[in-house]
Amino acid sequence: MQTVTMSRRDIIRGLAAGSIVIIPAGCAYNEELGRSQLLFVSQGQMAQLAASAWTDLKQQQRITNNPKYVNRMNRVAPRIIQAAGHNPADWEVQVFDSEQINAFALPGGRIGFYTGILDIMDNDDQIATVMGHEAAHVNFNHSGERYSQSTLAAAGLTVAQVATSDSRYQREIVGILGMGATLGVILPFSRKHELEADRFGVRYMHRAGYNPNQAVRFWETMSAMKSGAPPAYLSTHPSDATRIAQLKREIALLN
Ligand SMILES: [Zn+2]
Repeated sequence: MQTVTMSRRDIIRGLAAGSIVIIPAGCAYNEELGRSQLLFVSQGQMAQLAASAWTDLKQQQRITNNPKYVNRMNRVAPRIIQAAGHNPADWEVQVFDSEQINAFALPGGRIGFYTGILDIMDNDDQIATVMGHEAAHVNFNHSGERYSQSTLAAAGLTVAQVATSDSRYQREIVGILGMGATLGVILPFSRKHELEADRFGVRYMHRAGYNPNQAVRFWETMSAMKSGAPPAYLSTHPSDATRIAQLKREIALLN
């Protein structure tokens, strides 16, 4: 779902600390995704960048202690994190007190849910749906990919130019990162990323023992709600019909 803004300060700090390093010729094939990813920053680098954004978020937004929400999240999240291939102790999940119908993932396994989205979920399987989706964004370094794409765009370069490993272009990218521009990690995810997150998210929930058909139910609920005032993040999301059709295809492969 949505992402969170990373400040220019964070980027400059990352460069100064050496935590942001340009990976030359950053176009790598990802077997699991079945496509190439343009990446100038690794998952670890993105995680470091996101650390202060996450700290800021937790200071700026109210975290709920209401057991009605916290108990549900604590029940579901570790199972999904494990199914996604991680140790739950390495991740952090928080529920923020807000009516927003949304959830988000920051690099490094920091997941935020709003009470508003939990309020429309009928069961743990639906929580697992969104948790799986967010875990997939983290696993495939979608933030790093967006970050790399926006860096490239800001530098006015093409993938081909960067792939030459010509030091001139590498320097140019470093320069842009140093300026900070508005490169948040944090543009909304693309439709392609959203569909990938759905696709792998449903596998994680299935692996964790949840009912993947509830993913379809959940997105149908979201779709029905949208006929009123659409939540802002939905504008960058795939159409409901596309998303639900893809989920059904994935679920058929699981069963
Ligand atoms: Zn998403």
